[in-house]
Amino acid sequence: MSTCSPISSILRVYNLYGRRDNKYKARIKILVHEEGIDSIRRQVEEEFAQVKGGVLALLQAELDRIGAYFAAPAYERLNATTLDTAREKVLNPTYGRWLERNLNAHRQPGYVSVTISLKPVGGAPGDATDAQMDVVADLAERYSFDELRVSHEQNLVLPHVRIADLPAIYETLVANGLAEGNAGQITDMICCPGLDFCALANARSIPLAQELTRTFAAPERQAEIGDLKIKISGCINACGHHHVGHIGILGVEKKGTELYQISVGGDATEQAAIGDILGHGFVVEDVPAAIERLVDAYIARRQSPAEPFIAAYRRLGREPFKEALYGSSSH
Ligand code: SF4
Repeated sequence: MSTCSPISSILRVYNLYGRRDNKYKARIKILVHEEGIDSIRRQVEEEFAQVKGGVLALLQAELDRIGAYFAAPAYERLNATTLDTAREKVLNPTYGRWLERNLNAHRQPGYVSVTISLKPVGGAPGDATDAQMDVVADLAERYSFDELRVSHEQNLVLPHVRIADLPAIYETLVANGLAEGNAGQITDMICCPGLDFCALANARSIPLAQELTRTFAAPERQAEIGDLKIKISGCINACGHHHVGHIGILGVEKKGTELYQISVGGDATEQAAIGDILGHGFVVEDVPAAIERLVDAYIARRQSPAEPFIAAYRRLGREPFKEALYGSSSH
């Protein structure tokens, strides 16, 4: 048994023809845009036909050797305490919010995975201090088989936690400023370093993200909005994944001014979609109010609180959101 992934063929085609001569164009999306998706698809398929089962094939023994590194930890046999049961007993609303938002189901009975949000109100998304990292490393060692992951959402994850250990973990997180219960909510943004740190940037990202967390700080407001992902990039290289944000924000530079182009309707799940740009960019001071107008338009038009932002956008189309951003004169 051997395997060879089409991913390697995609990488080989990109490696052969990607614009490595120009750091502004060294992106696979730029190659696809310039060559056309049909041409790239054909070349990938030709490449894959050549290597399939051939030069890049892995022997089963090698797969087994690598697989051993990903063996499941030595779980305890626990009663299948469900998360709902754990949540029912909670009286503290802040802890309740954290349990509601920051846990993911685990296939092992009695366990969950825990998202440690690095998105406090007013903080730089994804930042943690050295002291906080020490605390989190200790938590991983004590409660999660010494395993800690960094998520692409710019948070940390304890992947295998006993439900019974959640109160102790939460207490430690509270004591160290890491207990924000906002995973997947509007303040849990992905944000690239932008002009504060990145030589390629057109605009700052982090101060805008910080301002947006302040705008939507109230937990009740975040709960009312529900699942909504904002993603911010400081330039078209898109390290902040703005294309696939439910609301995407892209920093552009126009005649020496930093502007922010807003897109709506992107999605990074299995229903992947690129967001629609609805009109001109905004100066930074106007972005929080523009995002509030989008959110208000969604809340006013959703069928019920159970209809998430992205579902409402797909049902309603771009017009109500364009009007919210630019007024009825935009038609
Ligand atoms: S998206 Fe952000 S981090 Fe990426 S290159 Fe542009 S400014 Fe830099």
